[in-house]
Amino acid sequence: MRGFRPSCLIWISLAAGLSGATAQVGASIATNSPKPLSERVVAYEIEARLDAQKKTIDGNETLTYRNLTGKPQDTFPFHLYQNAFQPKSTFMQEERVHRQSFKWEDKYRASAEMKSLEVVGVGDLTSKIHFISPDDGNPDDRTVFEVKLPKPVAPGDSVQFKIQFHDQLGEVFARTGYKNDFIMGAQWFPKIGVWWQGAWNCHQFHANTEFFADFGTFDVRLTVPQNEVVGASGVEVSNISNPNGTNTLTFHGEDIHDFAWTASPRFREFTDTFNSSMGPVRIRLLIQPEHVSQADRHLRITKQTMDRFDRWYGPYPYKQITVVDPPTNGFRAGGMEYPTLITGDTTWWMPNGWHVVEEAVEHEFGHQYWYGMVASNEFEDAWLDEGINSYTECKILDDIFGTDRSSLDLWGITESDDEQQRNGYLEVADRDPMARFAYQYLNFNSYGGITYGKTATVLLTLEKIIGEATVRRALQTYFMRYRFTHPTKEDFLKTLEEVSGRNLRWYFDQAVYGTAILDYEILSATSDRLDWQEKNPPEAKRGETVYRTHVLVHRKGDFIFPVDVLVKFDNGESLRQRWDGRDRWVRYSYDKKARLESAEIDPESAVRLDKNFFSNSYVDKEDDRAARKLARYWTIAVQFLAQLAAWLV
Ligand SMILES: [Zn+2]
Repeated sequence: MRGFRPSCLIWISLAAGLSGATAQVGASIATNSPKPLSERVVAYEIEARLDAQKKTIDGNETLTYRNLTGKPQDTFPFHLYQNAFQPKSTFMQEERVHRQSFKWEDKYRASAEMKSLEVVGVGDLTSKIHFISPDDGNPDDRTVFEVKLPKPVAPGDSVQFKIQFHDQLGEVFARTGYKNDFIMGAQWFPKIGVWWQGAWNCHQFHANTEFFADFGTFDVRLTVPQNEVVGASGVEVSNISNPNGTNTLTFHGEDIHDFAWTASPRFREFTDTFNSSMGPVRIRLLIQPEHVSQADRHLRITKQTMDRFDRWYGPYPYKQITVVDPPTNGFRAGGMEYPTLITGDTTWWMPNGWHVVEEAVEHEFGHQYWYGMVASNEFEDAWLDEGINSYTECKILDDIFGTDRSSLDLWGITESDDEQQRNGYLEVADRDPMARFAYQYLNFNSYGGITYGKTATVLLTLEKIIGEATVRRALQTYFMRYRFTHPTKEDFLKTLEEVSGRNLRWYFDQAVYGTAILDYEILSATSDRLDWQEKNPPEAKRGETVYRTHVLVHRKGDFIFPVDVLVKFDNGESLRQRWDGRDRWVRYSYDKKARLESAEIDPESAVRLDKNFFSNSYVDKEDDRAARKLARYWTIAVQFLAQLAAWLV
């Protein structure tokens, strides 16, 4: 629907409860959609004041929750994510388990304090608040609280919570907090859990996990010192100067499930527009002054990414995307996604050929689709977001930069993004199944390597089975069908089966639910004269002497996958075999007036899940083989250098 414009008006209630103003009438100001896109279970109105010196936020939150659960509800769980940044929290305990080198420092300490909680029509329930630890029973974890109402909220009714909270931010440890005068206001307000699959889903904050929340509207009024440049989810609807040296900025967001903001006096602002198929989208870039020379890179990759998402998977319906470049020394806030706001990741010296800027912005923008709109449960099915997003990252960066240089194209050294994803998977290939709750993974490395790297590699390998175009069509169907609905892993897998018209259970059982290794090898390949047993065989003559060639292919791993074997002879002939890969080995035999030249499994290297490409080929000329191996080692060396450089910055 290119060029589509809203044809009718909808009502929005713009912070009416905050400002005392009457509800404004007009077209949706935050999206290009003429009607609500989600069920809007929640409506948050938050008035918050930042003390930039003390790094505190004082907030008044009014949450209107619609009981669409189909049942009476009297108990409501809330996240208080800031309390994760305390030494005895589950988050920090897990940090220590996963990273022995981790040391607690008091500058990381943060907290969210519930000053009061009132339910309209019921009264003050502050004393009824109690912390729960549904995942691990840790009595010192205060990242989830529950409140029980004296009488249930009937199905279809709404309940209104009025909450006063006080945040003490810590130095950015994981995505949120401050670094010098930079503030990342993420996971900063009490957020209600999600009624999902017939139960409340409100996990504690874990070292590995991200987030899950319901869709709705956000009207947020932030009061900050006048020197602050502020970026936030949604769109800015007003900016008022107060006599006391502060500004009050009001933001409105629709059909989003979280609200994040940032403030810093150092931000430089650049804007651009992307014309999506639903209408114009304003791109607002807030960038560090020392990175201003990279503003174009940020804006260009945002538009290039939006263009591909719009054409390949579906429209971006919001009117704005805010791209935030955090300070380099606040890197722990970089490379993160929030609804309609993302953070990038760069340094002042980042050369154009090293696509770190582009990878970060592409990746975080991609989350607008899989995390932002599809909004699967990141505590439980992290791969549905990070993994699908890593796959689309590969496809989009390949399309922009070229398949073999999507990640790095510098001084003649190139590397592709899918090689990076595959390397991440190879490090931890059999540690955890993709279908594991994010906080139950063995460790950080396994969580990263499987959730991002393996999922991307599984979907790249799926192209070999159903074709690249079908995978793209299935992702489009999945996005358009399930956006704004919190789908499950089976919703995704069944969509792939439905769109491809294929039963792919054999593949999903192994790749998604299992940990089996896929590894096929050429065990041996020989050509022997057929007349070997004769006492005095005639001298071998090219084109006349008959050879018996054997190619022995071995399944080393437990993952069963059909295998293509390409056998080439020295008379130019080549034969391609397809083996179902089920038995432990297969032997191909040929009698020909030609000797074997090479035998290769999966000659296009399309089965990206294969753990060891080195063992996939036999070449008669040893030096050729050596050269191939060298090329593979070179890729690994480049990867290592890139890692090293990333650690050094
Ligand atoms: Zn991500």
